[in-house]
Parts: sequence; C-alpha cells; structure tokens
Amino acid sequence: MKIWQNLINQPGAVIADGAMGTMLQQAGLKPGELPTLWNVEHADRVRAVHGAYIAAGAQVLLTNTFSGNRFCLAKHGLASRVEEVNIAGAQILRAEIEAQNKQGAALVAGDIGPTGELLSPLGRLLFTEAVDGFAGQARALIKGGADVIWVETMADLEEVRAAVEGTRQASADIPIIATLTFDTRGRTITGVKPETAAATLSGCGVAAFGGNCGNGPNEILSVIQKMHAAVPEAILVAKSNAGLPEFVNGATVYRAAPETMARAALQLRAAGARIIGGCCGTTPAHIAAMARDLKA
Ligand SMILES: [Zn+2]
Repeated sequence: MKIWQNLINQPGAVIADGAMGTMLQQAGLKPGELPTLWNVEHADRVRAVHGAYIAAGAQVLLTNTFSGNRFCLAKHGLASRVEEVNIAGAQILRAEIEAQNKQGAALVAGDIGPTGELLSPLGRLLFTEAVDGFAGQARALIKGGADVIWVETMADLEEVRAAVEGTRQASADIPIIATLTFDTRGRTITGVKPETAAATLSGCGVAAFGGNCGNGPNEILSVIQKMHAAVPEAILVAKSNAGLPEFVNGATVYRAAPETMARAALQLRAAGARIIGGCCGTTPAHIAAMARDLKA
C-alpha cells in the first residue's frame, strides 16, 4: 500500500514495463506453449526480461502470470498448479528487483488476465466462480510478494468486477490497477466504451485504470482522452502495443520503433495518462526511449 502511495505521489509520469509474451517468444517460447509455466521451467529467461525492463527504467512491472488463473491453466491440464506458478512469478520479479537494488523504486504488479471464458448470461462461467478463481490467483501472487494487483487485457466490465472482488477476498487493501483492451472501433470486443469503463471503474475501488494492448498508441490516445474527460481526477494507465499488429507468415509483428513510442508517450501524458508503458511488441529499447523522454 505504502510503496504504491510513494510511487504515485511523485510528480510526473510513472514508467511501466513493456511486453512479456512477445519477449518470451524471442527467448524460445513455442506457439501453444503456456508462458506462465515458464515461471517454473525457465525462470532464468523470465527473470532476464524483467531485468532488462528494470534497467530500461520501468517502475511498475507485471509478473509473468497473465494466464495464471485456474480457467486458463485447466486448458493445459494444470489447474492444480495455480499457487505454484503465481507464487513463482511474483518471486522471480521480486528477486530481480532486489538484485538490482530497486526495492521501493520498482513495484511487483501481480498480473491477472482474463479467464478466456464468457461470463453468464453470455457464457457459462458464473460470476461467483470467476470471483473464486481470481481470488485464488490473487492470493498466490500476494503470497509471492506482489505490491499491487494489475488486472489487464479485459473486455467485459463484469469480469473486471469479478477480478476486483476476488482480489479483495485475498486482501482488503492491496492497490488494484485495471486495464481494458479497446480494440474494436474504440470499444472493447464486448462493446464497452472508454467513458463507460471510466465511470464504472472509478466507483469500484481501483487505484488506477486505463487501456492496454490493442491497435497501437493512436487508439490508446483516444481512450485516454475519453477517460480523462469522463473522470478527470482518475490516475490513468496507457500500455499500448508497438503499433498495429500485422500478420506475416503466420506470426504477429509490431513495427512501431522506440522513437515512435517515445513520441506517443509524450502525447499520452499530455492527454492525462499517468502510468505509461507498452504491451505486445514493446521491448526494453522502447521502454528506455519512453522513459528518457518522459523523465526529461
Ligand atoms: Zn498486448
């Protein structure tokens, strides 16, 4: 709680990290392989990514636990390993922060991604089951040393509410950051508008909220503008992909250069974003360029 307050009370932008998934792909993660499992199978490679982001200037870093809820793990026959992979994910990041002597200057954000299921009544997953699944993940992340919980890449506000409620079952006061993906003509894939998300999230006890992933910095810029207009006092988060995803030979590539993302970061700050990082395709070089210009 206090470490979050200290960070957010400093003037200026707070630097978040960049992508984990695309970095692990470069480190040898195969298509279909579960990135979260690398916390136990290739902890050194996960830790190296964190290390590069800390060195680039990131102050809030996400654990490699995006698919660490029991619903995603169950699809790989790993539902019984929620505790293990999430504790390991938080510990790896915590250990790297300590190794670089950045205690208090870099935060462990326990990453919670979507269940991959549709919530009832659209789908079959009950709200209470989702809450219970998220609570289990949050408990393990906190046990492993998370300073905050970061709920990300969400499309459905009900699922965000389930993640917030689950996190609150695990801890009454850990700060929660929540970001949605507005990749469908300015809305999330379930139709949520940025201003609606802002109004809902500002009333549900999250410390900061905003957008992540999607179609690059221009899309996130308009999300931040709308959220800022809707709730001017909110602490807003922008974590965009490195440009529009392009599909080349079966792979997804992101072409925005570090300098492009650095220019976008200044625009995002001017539009009201406070915590700024990157999502898919952003690398430590992107974050270093963004941090350099945001801190200039
Ligand atoms: Zn992304």
